[in-house]
Parts: sequence; C-alpha cells; structure tokens
Amino acid sequence: MPKIRQVHGRQVYDSRGNPTVEVDVVLTDETTGRAAVPSGASTGRYEAVELRDGGKPFGGKGVLRALAHVDGEISQALCGLDADDQAAVDSCLIALDGTPNKSRLGANAVLGASLAVARAAAHSHHLPLHRYLARPDQEMSLPVPLLNVLNGGRHADNRLEIQEFLVVPHGFDSFQEAMAAGVEVYQALRRELVLIGQRTAVGDEGGFAPDLSDDEEALQLLLQAVERAGFEPGAQVSLALDPAASEMREADGYRLNGATLSAKDLTATYAAWTQRFPLVSIEDPMDEDDTTGWQAVTAELGGRLQLIGDDNFVTNADRLRQGASEHIANAILIKPNQVGTLTETLATISAARQLGYRSVVSHRSGDTEDTFIADLTVATGAGQIKTGAPCRQERLAKYNRLLRIAEQAPNLPYAGRLVFGRGR
Ligand code: PGA
Ligand code: ZN
Repeated sequence: MPKIRQVHGRQVYDSRGNPTVEVDVVLTDETTGRAAVPSGASTGRYEAVELRDGGKPFGGKGVLRALAHVDGEISQALCGLDADDQAAVDSCLIALDGTPNKSRLGANAVLGASLAVARAAAHSHHLPLHRYLARPDQEMSLPVPLLNVLNGGRHADNRLEIQEFLVVPHGFDSFQEAMAAGVEVYQALRRELVLIGQRTAVGDEGGFAPDLSDDEEALQLLLQAVERAGFEPGAQVSLALDPAASEMREADGYRLNGATLSAKDLTATYAAWTQRFPLVSIEDPMDEDDTTGWQAVTAELGGRLQLIGDDNFVTNADRLRQGASEHIANAILIKPNQVGTLTETLATISAARQLGYRSVVSHRSGDTEDTFIADLTVATGAGQIKTGAPCRQERLAKYNRLLRIAEQAPNLPYAGRLVFGRGR
C-alpha cells in the first residue's frame, strides 16, 4: 500500500467569504487527495475548536496558524504512514494534538488532513470515495435530502427566530425524483413569496430569507408551496425544523415570535405545529444544556417525530451515549468538523446505530465546493443528508454529487420510505 509522502495546506475561502483550510495529500504512488473544511455560525459550545489567527485581517478569522501546523507537525507525523490505515492516521493526529477538543493544532487543520488522506487512498485504490468508505456491516443507500428552503436565526438578516425550515421529499422511489420534488417546492416557494410581495434574497444556506416575523406563517407558506408544486403533504413531501434553540435561549426561557416561552410552552408549540403541519423532524428543539427541556420534549414528541441532537451531541460518541442514557433525542446530526477526524465521525455513526438513533449527515452554514459528506452519507447508509437549499453551488455540489452516485450505482436503494415510511 502506498504511504503518505506529502501533506500541504493552503488558505481558500468559504461561502461566507471567510478563510478556511484546504489540504492536499500526495502518496508515494503519486496519487493525491484534497479536502476543504467547512465552518459553522451557530456552533455548539462542545464542538472541536477551529484554530483562527485573531488580530485584524479577516476579522480574526485567518487560518495561517492552522496551515503552519498542517505543513509542519502534521506533515511530519503523517509522512510514512499507510494511507489506507485511516484509523492509524487519525489516532496519530489525535495524539499529536493532545487536547480533548483539537484546540492545539486546530480541528480545521486536523480534519483537513484526515479527509484528504481518505480521498488520496480512495484514488490510489481507483475507487469512488463512497465505495472506499463502505464497510460490510454498513448497508449503503442514497439519502433523503433535507432541504433548508427558508432561513432565519443566525443564518439570515430577518426576524424569523427559527433558523431552518426544511422540506423532506421522502415518498419517492429514487433520489433523483426526491431531489426534483425538492427543487419544484423551492421554486413554488419563490412564486409564493413574490405573490405576497416578499423579497426572494437568500440566506447563508441558500434558503429564502423573507422578512417574515412569524415562524408559523413561514410553516404555512411552506405547506402551500408543497401543495402548489403538486405534491401530497405528508405522503410525498413532509417538513422539518431546526430551531437551533440554543440561539433562542434567554435568561428566563426561549424567545419566539416576540414572546418568551418556558421549555414546556415551547414543547406545546411544537406539538401544536405537529397537529397542523406535516412535520417529521425537529433538530435542536431545546438549548444544548437544557437537559430537562430536552427530556420533556423527547418524552412528549419522540414517539412521533425525529428529534435530532446537534449542538448538544456535537458528533461526539460519548456525548451521544450520555444523552441516550438521559433519554434525550432519537437522532444525531453528523458534522465531521464538530469532532475533527473521519474515524471519530464513523465511530459516532456506528454508536448511533447501536443505540437505535438515526444519523443525519450535515454541511455547515459556511461551506465549500467539497463534497465529502455526500459520499460519507452513502457509504454509511445514514439515510439522510442536510445540505441546504437547491441554491448556492456549495450546497448543490453535494446534491449533484449524489445524483452522479445515483446514476453510477442504480442498485443502491433510496432511503426515503425506509426512513419515514409512507406518510406519517
Ligand atoms: P451551523 O448551522 O453550521 O451554522 O452550525 C447548521 C445547524 O445548526 O445545523
Ligand atoms: Zn443545527
């Protein structure tokens, strides 16, 4: 097996125009691999830490220190290792960093190197990345796309408190049909917004960012768009939310539509919406540290809704196990840069499967043209991917990659009905 010969990082820019890390790896057989690292805005406080330069350039967001680690210590430690022993590569990176949250070398430096090695190894084996990442105990599938078509919270300059309103095209036979439905709903939503005199400017993840102030009105508009696009709500296309509730938290409760709600009232609001709208999933319904709120919403709604932990679990298997022992959530969001290496990401997906939790693989609000997560989702059979609206090419890059995989591997099942059944 070829060994790692060179590791080099460079500064590129993400979709918000902030610097980010891109890493190139060269193997002794001259094959290469490249990966670019995304960056969040509504980050959980337990996430692995991005190393940023501080100071004046780029508002402190430069990554030159992280890049120096890539070209220096990381390159030195990885050169000579077997490229297809990903576990050894990642253990080496974790030990070299030596902190529990990758803060010394920077999770951005570490993840860039980790993913670029996997890509190089896949190239060396002449395999598409999803086939290189495949394991006998993981049934591959094409995921349900969770398309974030209305943006609020920290991802848009409007008054919507809820960060993401998503469409979930599950009731279809193929990824291609599901994706087409998502796109049709997105276009129908644009027409709805024009009709009511709203702007159609988009937020960080390509969803529209109309100047609505009422989160319920947003749900209503979305439902209308599904119907106008000609789909059956609930049976073919359902809805999902990511309130990113840590961002709604105030000293005495949660801010929503001009009111401050207790965790109990917030749960009641979600329950009422579930009656009126074809909701199948809510992510971060409570603050990352509000264990009792999370327990209450899981007890009340966990039987009928997918409840995804993002800011609380931060793709960390130990935090997921802790949450499971506290009866919190029934699904986990998987963002490789929250934990920092590919091996840890795969371990968290495996832990979720063992615990009976679903996995939803996700982009970040600041992202790049890198499509690693598309292959990761297929390889692990996670069954769901969340990578923005069908708008802004850093979002579509992932969906388009999935369309190509679907064409190349027509026998892979589409996970839609497996995950959400027919209707609810
Ligand atoms: P982030 O948002 O990338 O800004 O953290 C995505 C999410 O909360 O799921
Ligand atoms: Zn989230």
